[in-house]
Amino acid sequence: MKKPFVTKEQIEEIAKTYPTPFHIYDEKGIRENARALYKAFSWNKGFREYFAVKATPNPFIMKILQEEGCGFDCSSFTELMLSDDVGAKKHDIMFSSNATPDADFKKAFELGAIINLDDFTHIDVLDKLTGIPETICCRYNPGGEFKTDGSPNVMDTPKDAKYGFTHEQIIEGYKILKEKGAKRFGMHAFLASNTLTNDYYPTLAGIMFRTAVEIKEKTGVELSFINLSGGVGIPYKPDQPANDIAVIGEKVREKFEEILVPAGLGNIAIYTELGRFMLAPYGMLVAKAIREKHIYKEYIGLDACAANLMRPAIYGAYHHITVLGKENEPCDHKYDVTGGLCENCDKFAVDRMLPKIDIGDYVAIHDTGAHGFSMGYNYNGKLRSAELLLREDGSVKLIRRAETPKDYFATFDFAKGDYDLK
Ligand SMILES: *Cc1c(COP(=O)(O)O)cnc(C)c1O
Repeated sequence: MKKPFVTKEQIEEIAKTYPTPFHIYDEKGIRENARALYKAFSWNKGFREYFAVKATPNPFIMKILQEEGCGFDCSSFTELMLSDDVGAKKHDIMFSSNATPDADFKKAFELGAIINLDDFTHIDVLDKLTGIPETICCRYNPGGEFKTDGSPNVMDTPKDAKYGFTHEQIIEGYKILKEKGAKRFGMHAFLASNTLTNDYYPTLAGIMFRTAVEIKEKTGVELSFINLSGGVGIPYKPDQPANDIAVIGEKVREKFEEILVPAGLGNIAIYTELGRFMLAPYGMLVAKAIREKHIYKEYIGLDACAANLMRPAIYGAYHHITVLGKENEPCDHKYDVTGGLCENCDKFAVDRMLPKIDIGDYVAIHDTGAHGFSMGYNYNGKLRSAELLLREDGSVKLIRRAETPKDYFATFDFAKGDYDLK
């Protein structure tokens, strides 16, 4: 069973100061999970997690992860600014972007970030813009179909993904980068998303480690780091088994010993670039039931909408819902739980069995700590919510205020009449 990390009584207290809807994050959970990740990979000297900033671009959350030893993975100009502001220095930042604008490459170079090239043609682009930095990374796309070892299988089709260098290109790429003066090399690949199996990283590691050996044989380049990127998932549904990061770390170690060590590549550092695994379970969207409707189906209308959490609307993603204070009541009512957008896909849950919901009840929508607030938008003139942090001592800190209409109108100046066509 999924249990919220706050009680109804806590939320009632918090809502006196910060009205719903809001996203709330659990500092204790974030720290414990980050420590478990570092422990799982402690066998690897250079191990580092570069938190995927896009998942939860909040500087307070980033600070917590930084204190736990994490760097940051950025893919845009503003994510680079954010990481810089948080105090990340040089190789504390990975820059994994695609269709990269010149200004973004320049910013990443200025900050001394590790640039992860998404394409063979970007070698030339970067060379002309800034020169090739001493440390450089290439994103690998092995093509074909990807299938994890073991069961249950996870499948994906890298050949249809827009990312990365082909096999031939990456071999050629390292040769060229070496000629152009690069000294330290990395390789990156991201082949499947939100995987629920302990075999994803180990299978990916197997592919990347064998490629690293081939690169050494064919080009003489010895990689310094291999970035397994993101993709380790979390169980959004209560009956799904969670990944065990200790098992994942151990299985990657086995591949490392089997493939890299005998090839004389036992000094390669392993990097990860997790977003969802680091944060999703440690955030919730808290909303209030404000309307009910009894037509062909039963509806509950919340004060939150898809603008606060887009995943159910765009992917049909499941997010578990707890009616706070009714945790032990029978789930004997079938509801569609909706937001107020003029879009029929604005439903947090469809045909969900829940306890009877009364107007004024608070609901916790689980697992919104990653790719939740950050995917928010302003459709229908809806405003972004606040973000709150539940500290380890039980206190609550506002880590982003809610938007006001003034924020929504900030790109016009009504006083100056600069929207006037005349
Ligand atoms: C989104 C992304 C991640 C994080 O993915 P998760 O599924 O959240 O772990 C990591 N690296 C890159 C390049 C990404 O685009």
